[in-house]
Amino acid sequence: MAKTYPRTAKNYRIRPLTFATPLLENESLTSWLVRAALNQGCSPSTLTFYFWPEYRIWTYDVDKGFEHIDSDIHADMAVLAKTTVDTFNHQTLMSFAKEADNSLTEKTGLTWTRPLSKRNRYSRIGYPYCADCLKEDKTAYLKLQWRFTWSVCCTKHKKFLQLECPHCHYPYQPQLINPEQRYINRCHSCHHKLDTEVTDILPSDTIYKFQLLVDKVFHEKQGTVLGRLVSMGDWFDYLLFLINMTRLALRNPDYMFGKLLFQFGVDIDTLSTPKTALRFDYIPIEEKTVLLECTFHLFQISHSQWVYACEALNVTQNSFHWSKNTVVPAAFKQVYNQLPKTPKRRRILKPTDIQPTSPEAVMAAWNRLQRKREMTNHYDKHLKDD
Ligand SMILES: [Zn+2]
Ligand SMILES: [Zn+2]
Repeated sequence: MAKTYPRTAKNYRIRPLTFATPLLENESLTSWLVRAALNQGCSPSTLTFYFWPEYRIWTYDVDKGFEHIDSDIHADMAVLAKTTVDTFNHQTLMSFAKEADNSLTEKTGLTWTRPLSKRNRYSRIGYPYCADCLKEDKTAYLKLQWRFTWSVCCTKHKKFLQLECPHCHYPYQPQLINPEQRYINRCHSCHHKLDTEVTDILPSDTIYKFQLLVDKVFHEKQGTVLGRLVSMGDWFDYLLFLINMTRLALRNPDYMFGKLLFQFGVDIDTLSTPKTALRFDYIPIEEKTVLLECTFHLFQISHSQWVYACEALNVTQNSFHWSKNTVVPAAFKQVYNQLPKTPKRRRILKPTDIQPTSPEAVMAAWNRLQRKREMTNHYDKHLKDD
């Protein structure tokens, strides 16, 4: 089919939409495409097939943007929404990732992006939303911000973001909404409005403040680490470094990093460790919240407090290389460089050193399997429903 639709022949379709749907500030591309389709009275997949028949748009993570697939798509969208192509280029997950992550390649998943785990056009993980933000039919839209993994709550309403329908508990999938449902704030499965909370637990003041801080760094493209102004990329590297250090401390409270965090006033024993060993981007909101609250506390620790605590606990430069992939972030080098190095010891592996897998590793693998099964069940149900 693709060959019968050369670009020049197809372009006649690209004109401003009959029922104007401007791309709103901070709106995600998913949100705009779904609203544009519903405003024209068609389904999201009909709209995208009509304009871009050579691509199955909804099999992609739309919010990443299409610059890396076909830059004409953003140019087309800009005409449809009566705006500039730059607006579309900048309002994507890819645009943020390029600025924040120097090691970005096509193959690695985007860091700081909440996955939707797509199979075909179905997602096995729901699209994050704030029920209060979606209350009004006509003004409801989805924010790109909610797709980032540091976003655990809505800063406007101080409520946790949620991924599922509060009525049928299906993952929220706006791309599957029918034109009869008319608005983006509907569940495609039970057709109810997504205007109630799944949980009545409210975010703590700490998590709310941290959310505001991360959003500020995101908007200003720079932030402060240990009293120095650093680029957004360096700031986010430091954040991830602290998150990983916290995870390490939670796993082994009696070991070095557990003691270090205790020294900084974090009550490790009262905190729960993530059930799986998955990357931060993949763990559930409640587990992220625990890690972010702890990390926010570590953000307040000054340069001299770090050096003092590390010296007291014999923490050396080598201690910060806890796995072979760990890179000490540039922003932390001012502390790191002041610590002593440990000479490398050569260790010969004896047969008695080979240990069976630890119970923690087995449990983490088991929990990952459970998670996969739950997601597959949702997808299988789709197949039966279709
Ligand atoms: Zn909200
Ligand atoms: Zn539902």
